[in-house]
Amino acid sequence: MENRVYNFSAGPAVLPLPVLKKAQEELLCLPGVGSSVLEISHRSKPFMEIIEQAEANLRTLYAIPDNYKVLFLQGGAQLQFAMIPMNIMQGNVGEYILTGSWGKKALAQAKTQGETKVVWDGADSKYSTLPTADQLTCSENAAYVHITSNETIEGVQFTEEPNTGDVPLICDSSSDILCRPVDIEKYGVLYACAQKNAGPAGVTVVIIREDLLERTPTGLPVMLDLKKLADSKSLLNTPPCFSIYVLKLVTDWLLNDIGGLAKMYDMNKEKAGLLYDTVDSSDGFYVGHASPDCRSIMNVSFRMQTPELDAKFIKEAAAQGLTTLKGHRSVGGCRASIYNAMPREGVVQLRDFMAEFLKNNG
Ligand SMILES: *Cc1c(COP(=O)(O)O)cnc(C)c1O
Repeated sequence: MENRVYNFSAGPAVLPLPVLKKAQEELLCLPGVGSSVLEISHRSKPFMEIIEQAEANLRTLYAIPDNYKVLFLQGGAQLQFAMIPMNIMQGNVGEYILTGSWGKKALAQAKTQGETKVVWDGADSKYSTLPTADQLTCSENAAYVHITSNETIEGVQFTEEPNTGDVPLICDSSSDILCRPVDIEKYGVLYACAQKNAGPAGVTVVIIREDLLERTPTGLPVMLDLKKLADSKSLLNTPPCFSIYVLKLVTDWLLNDIGGLAKMYDMNKEKAGLLYDTVDSSDGFYVGHASPDCRSIMNVSFRMQTPELDAKFIKEAAAQGLTTLKGHRSVGGCRASIYNAMPREGVVQLRDFMAEFLKNNG
């Protein structure tokens, strides 16, 4: 095998090596099945065991209460931007807290379904900040309030859920799902595409409180009907079997190798700290995008004094096997995505490279 690099891609992103090895080992023949997971019916017993175990793992990791359904859907997080409003708006207003690029995209899709209102917008700070509790006033009769728990591009992350009272909180957790424990009861819906922190592209996890499924209007196309998808246990049509299988392996890894989300959270905080400490002690050579109290532990966005220096940094890092550090085109600079599966050693090497680069160019 060619040497694997440390891949800081924002998504699709690094997967745990033991998961890839297991998938490789079992690719030709699932133990006891005699066929690949790629070749068996989604209604067969072996696949039913896989999808049920994937759900059970998520339920264990997040301590998901019984009155929530766990769905495995297709269409990515961006289909949920439209599908959730389509199902639960009921003619009321969908409220949005905009903390970055993905929140704005979610809002644009909700507008295709009904009335929306922006209750907070971080545009003035170039999405480097988050609202404080006293800056938020949500209406009591809103259909829901939508947040993006981690803005992948700007690198800002909520550490506490905004209090929305009785109005259901809807959260796009695409780039920080499973990075830490959360209290699912605070959410009406928590959804995430898999390809950042939970598995490969192709499957989207939707954790939804049961009573919200009663809001689904009649007459929706079946594949957009959350109630019907939930009633069919995500098996209304052929699900993305392989992606669900790998998601099961990732959640096995979190449970058995890592030891749960509290442990994962400690590891993630420590890894992120290595990079932010380097930014903070660089005398302004590295400038973080996010305001320090809003920093993401998943996506570390930073820049140097000139785009030329950023480009040099990205190029020289890649030559040392530290790849995909270019920031998103809308923000520029550099971005290190350090999801659950990024080994600590990769972050240590990046930290050391940052110190070396500062010495040579500062
Ligand atoms: C990547 C990402 C998305 C987009 O997901 P798709 O599966 O490509 O639709 C949405 N929201 C956030 C926060 C993301 O990081």
